[in-house]
Amino acid sequence: MNYIILDLEWDGSYYPKIGGFINQILQIGAVKLNDNFDVVDTFDCIIKSSFSKRVSKRFTELTGITKEDMLSGIPMKNAFSAYNEWVGDDAVTMTWSNSDIYTVLDNEKKLLDGIRLKIDKYLDLQKYIQGEMRILGIEYNSQISLLNAATALGVEVDESTLHNAKADSMVCAKLLKKFYDKERFERLILDTSDPDFFARYTYKPHYITNIDDVEIDKSQLIFYCPFCGSQLKNTKKWKPRFGGFKTVMSCDDCKKEFNANVKFRKMFDSVKVRRNLSERLPKD
Ligand SMILES: [Zn+2]
Repeated sequence: MNYIILDLEWDGSYYPKIGGFINQILQIGAVKLNDNFDVVDTFDCIIKSSFSKRVSKRFTELTGITKEDMLSGIPMKNAFSAYNEWVGDDAVTMTWSNSDIYTVLDNEKKLLDGIRLKIDKYLDLQKYIQGEMRILGIEYNSQISLLNAATALGVEVDESTLHNAKADSMVCAKLLKKFYDKERFERLILDTSDPDFFARYTYKPHYITNIDDVEIDKSQLIFYCPFCGSQLKNTKKWKPRFGGFKTVMSCDDCKKEFNANVKFRKMFDSVKVRRNLSERLPKD
């Protein structure tokens, strides 16, 4: 089995065809590792934009890639084909955070005609390393940058080369070599041939706005009196409000009224529920 660490660099630019901005991939960098996580091969390719004649100042500062570099690059579909051939079969592809996957899917959809970047098995290296850090007692609430992770774990980084796709991949390789645990690593490998894999990445969560939707768990519409515990009665029908539903409920025993609010957010494979109950105080 081979291991690939893939690192893409992209630049946001206005794409007239869709009338909006797109994060266009302009560099593919990758390293191939053997079972010992030694680098056995590298891939580096600059992509020529199909619609833009320039790159942002920020992109050049970050990656060292100039407008001239970009303009002398190769078309995206050729770059993807060359990469696919280089990757070969039976490889686990890793990226630092899954934002690269979102960008790949977006570029494939908007800029390419049926060509896909070959990713068979996938692992989010940021998620893995952050898990290893947690075991070592290093807690991060937010997603950690590659530089911060390397610094926290004592892996040497030449900061001047960061955000060069190949250099970033080398840092990932060092982290992996130092913090590999077979069992925990293999548990995080995802099979991209599972239809759910890409569906999950392209799914857009939304609020359910029809109270009769089959996805709504009707038991979530039942509230109990916070004073006596009796089940409350609806005095009105559920009405849509701010992406959720509202109604007024009353307790027969306490003669109190309550505002009840509930929201159902449909996620890829679950429905998140938010409920709120507050007493209606008599108006004076
Ligand atoms: Zn009550």
